[in-house]
Amino acid sequence: MLPTFRPTPTCTRFQATTEMPCMKCGVPMRLALIEPQGHSYDLLTYHCVPCDSGESFLQAI
Ligand SMILES: [Zn+2]
Repeated sequence: MLPTFRPTPTCTRFQATTEMPCMKCGVPMRLALIEPQGHSYDLLTYHCVPCDSGESFLQAI
């Protein structure tokens, strides 16, 4: 059930939208996964296609 790539949550951004620019190349990343983290937060995982990497962010519900 787990995805093959699983980046470490950076938690550096608290504002997450459906389009997040990649920190490396600036290309808008795709929202790949949403995982509930307790009652107040979702863990959003984005995937950058050109870099073939991902980032995760906590988003308050
Ligand atoms: Zn990138």
